[in-house]
Order: sequence, then C-alpha cells, then structure tokens
Amino acid sequence: MPTPLERLRRRYETTDKKCSACGYVDEGRNWESRTDGRQIVYRYVCPICDASREHTFTLG
Ligand SMILES: [Zn+2]
Repeated sequence: MPTPLERLRRRYETTDKKCSACGYVDEGRNWESRTDGRQIVYRYVCPICDASREHTFTLG
C-alpha cells in the first residue's frame, strides 16, 4: 500500500510531466522528494534545460 506521500508524488509524476520552460515531456520518474519533518518538497529538474520546479507541502 502506498503511503499518502507516495500517492502525492505519483500524482505529480503522472500529471506534471511537461517542462514549462522547454516543453519537454518526461515520461519517467525524475521527481525527487526531501523532507525536514515539517515540510516535504517535491522537486523536478528538467534533463533538457535544467529548469526546476517544486511543490511544497506542510506536514501535520
Ligand atoms: Zn526543460
């Protein structure tokens, strides 16, 4: 069973695939996640143009 955070990450991986900077559509899973215990940050770096985008959530 995926955790809620894994589901959230999966949602980005399936809905936020297109780079807004260069238009590249990534069908892979290049989202990174990190957390400091209070927030979780999902970050994606485009392999083509190195543009990054992030989604931040506060836990709890
Ligand atoms: Zn790009």
